[in-house]
Amino acid sequence: MPTIYDLHTHSTASDGSVEPAQLVAKANALGVHHLALTDHDTVNGLAEARTAAANLDINLIDGIELSAKWDRTTVHIVGLNIDPDCPAMQQVTTSLAELREERAMRIGEKLAKAGIEQAYENAKRIAGPGTVTRQHFSQFLVASGHAKNQADVFKRYMVRNKPGYVAVDWPSLEETIASIHHAGGVAVIAHPLRYRMTASKLRRLLAAFKDNAGDAIEVVTGHNDRAEVERAAGYARKYELAASTGSDFHNQQTPWSQLGKLSTLPAGLTPVWQCWP
Ligand code: AMP
Ligand code: MN
Ligand code: MN
Ligand code: MN
Repeated sequence: MPTIYDLHTHSTASDGSVEPAQLVAKANALGVHHLALTDHDTVNGLAEARTAAANLDINLIDGIELSAKWDRTTVHIVGLNIDPDCPAMQQVTTSLAELREERAMRIGEKLAKAGIEQAYENAKRIAGPGTVTRQHFSQFLVASGHAKNQADVFKRYMVRNKPGYVAVDWPSLEETIASIHHAGGVAVIAHPLRYRMTASKLRRLLAAFKDNAGDAIEVVTGHNDRAEVERAAGYARKYELAASTGSDFHNQQTPWSQLGKLSTLPAGLTPVWQCWP
């Protein structure tokens, strides 16, 4: 039986629908051996996940998915095997929480101008104690009949030039990688083929990531078919990055990102888990 790694997942601590302890139990039941919880811009789910993992035969890796800005584009950097309690992580998550809160209020104001009232209050209610994200606004917009599904909401409201879009000045790529390193972690560029950028811009991003001491690239993600996995593997080789694998699981309803359901890493790559002891 192969060892199963799933190194990119979300819980209710951000925009996932499963609580941290349940996520760990579910991963264990699905045969995952090594699980990283990587919520957006927060480490708040990790303590609960760790307690749950202690009673099960599963290795929990402390992680985070940090929002960063590079060349006016938002990119996601996963930090794996971080120390969630270290001051560098506390500092970055505190400032990201403030940025998210300000953005959420401005999204609420913009949607109110477009005739949609109480969006901020509802998004916050849906997020509960978790990080508030565009996904929570999108859940509210679907529930209140403003759009038929998530994809539709994003297209019509939550992206650039649409009524509910607010740009965020996320920390730079350089700062983000540095904060992961300060926390003793490994920096992974998440879902490289999902950014809406040309191939030449993606190559510039990967070169910048490598120049700033980025460690690894997600070669296998829940979203990718085999040709995309091979393409990402090519980038791992070209930029001499280690290779990670993660479903980006958020909920049961999203068929293309199911927990622990990942194709194998192509041969000849350095798996990211060889980067930590
Ligand atoms: P945020 O980090 O607050 O900007 O929210 C981004 C989150 O919204 C992502 O992590 C996804 O979970 C979700 N998301 C982004 N784009 C889409 C889309 N086109 N359709 C559905 N969900 C999306
Ligand atoms: Mn998300
Ligand atoms: Mn992401
Ligand atoms: Mn993610």
